[in-house]
Amino acid sequence: MPRDDREIQVNRIKQITCASCTHVIDITGYKPLSRQRCPACGVEFQAPGQIGQYVMFKRLAAGAMGSVYLAYDEVLGRRIALKIVSAPASKDDDLYEGALREARVQASINHPNVAQVYAMSEDMGQPYIIMELVDGGSVFGEIKDQGPMQEIDTLRIGIDAANGLYAAQKLGLLHRDMKPANLLLDRDRRAKVIDFGLAERLKNQGEGKVVGSPYYMAPEIARGNVADHRADIYSLGATLYHMLTGGPPFKHPGATPRDIVLRRFKVPPPDPAEHTANLHESTSRLVQSMMALEADHRPADYPALVRRMKQAIALIRRDRASPDDGDDPLQALSDAVQGRG
Ligand code: ADP
Ligand code: MG
Repeated sequence: MPRDDREIQVNRIKQITCASCTHVIDITGYKPLSRQRCPACGVEFQAPGQIGQYVMFKRLAAGAMGSVYLAYDEVLGRRIALKIVSAPASKDDDLYEGALREARVQASINHPNVAQVYAMSEDMGQPYIIMELVDGGSVFGEIKDQGPMQEIDTLRIGIDAANGLYAAQKLGLLHRDMKPANLLLDRDRRAKVIDFGLAERLKNQGEGKVVGSPYYMAPEIARGNVADHRADIYSLGATLYHMLTGGPPFKHPGATPRDIVLRRFKVPPPDPAEHTANLHESTSRLVQSMMALEADHRPADYPALVRRMKQAIALIRRDRASPDDGDDPLQALSDAVQGRG
């Protein structure tokens, strides 16, 4: 059950300075993380709370496994993301072990397209993970607010995600929960993969573990079979489908999660072009091939996938180039084919 702010125990802070009018506000009487107004200028703020050396300013998201806060590291003097794992926990129970496992897996990956884990700690029985703050929101949130993403933007974000997942694969890790909510954007629209809570070592996989979100789940995982990196390629394909069309594949009214999972065995991978006008054929074919039922029919590995995404971008530019465009689309295409650029 997700914790809300009332259940999270944080230390109180005595006073803050209003960011809007610089009035010093006494907040000793305010519940940490409650919404308040500055008595001088009336601007709304969330009363901060503190855990360890981290001052928490606001909740960014409440997920199934815990809440994530925007916070400030008082020792190092920088903003970070703080993920508190749900439900009361002590160091020796499963929840702490689960959080520790997630933090260790993500911390082992050092790559610009994976949010970096800085530390893990525990305070008042609450395990928490300290991470690099990725503050451009999630791909899921952006689509919810603004609708489908542009085609080239989608492919560029797809290349970032593929590079992040490739870094994980090189360490022998399968993410197993690739979806728009687990892909964040920074201020330069660079994408970073998060949430290694379901990640598994490729060589340690037991059969029969069916985990992940039904819309994006690879068929071999749904069947409980041993999977490899191509299961993450499937989920990334479903994620790109969502980005291009504004919603997940296999969605239909009244469907249970089981119906949604079974649908991928009954119908061919859906074509995003049926929902979104003017998609380039190479994009639509690529997304469908990433979601092929048989892993052998998907792009074989991440370098091949990234090459195809770059080719699709170059073809879109070539076919839609206007005479005023500065870039030479044919040169870009030849660079993409040869793996440059
Ligand atoms: P859960 O295991 O509950 O799904 P996630 O790790 O996926 O938790 O985080 C849930 C949400 O919190 C994300 O969708 C995102 O909105 C936000 N979030 C998580 N990590 C970060 C981060 N490093 N920077 C900014 N926001 C984050
Ligand atoms: Mg998540």
